[in-house]
Amino acid sequence: MTCLICGTPYQSTPTWSKLFLNQLDSSTCTRCFEKFEVSESTIDFTDFLGTPYEGAVDSVFCLYTYNEPMKEFLHQYKFLQDVALAKVFAGNLQQAFQTREGIIVPIPMHPEKLELRTFAQVDELLNAAQVSYQQLLVKTKSETQGKKTKMERLETSNLFEAMSNIEATNYILFDDIYTTGATIHHAAKILKDAGAKRVDAITLIKG
Ligand SMILES: [Zn+2]
Repeated sequence: MTCLICGTPYQSTPTWSKLFLNQLDSSTCTRCFEKFEVSESTIDFTDFLGTPYEGAVDSVFCLYTYNEPMKEFLHQYKFLQDVALAKVFAGNLQQAFQTREGIIVPIPMHPEKLELRTFAQVDELLNAAQVSYQQLLVKTKSETQGKKTKMERLETSNLFEAMSNIEATNYILFDDIYTTGATIHHAAKILKDAGAKRVDAITLIKG
């Protein structure tokens, strides 16, 4: 096989977990994959205390840190639109979802942005991981989050709307990166206000 990241041929080793847990292959060589660093930091919600978003999110689990190899990966995946790279974390994401219960809801892109990017990078990560999900949210605001301060991001009206009925059950939000937490908190609040019992979140990266 050819490594999706460095392009060199490699031998895919059949491991116990690949065989018995039917875990997906990362489609990268070991040398490239080892450069990604597992995130061990816990997410702290203190920024949201006393805001309308307090208690909206029950837990957040981030798989990897935002180190240099991850920055390069994300750049190539998102901006150079290399959709094949969605496979790199397929096995790890599949495992992360297997250990949690709830309806998986990807964070959507604004329709105008989707047109520019040509593919929904968050959805494609889930497709590669072969997990089923439901599109329950729509992004109604397109302003760039990065240009605002943290307080401005929190005070802004919600970025999302629910597309269909939300049940009194558990939901798992999924996004590529957790940075300030504003996106996940906005989405979680929509679900909670509509009756969701519990809202957990998984992101590939902790920014
Ligand atoms: Zn490689």
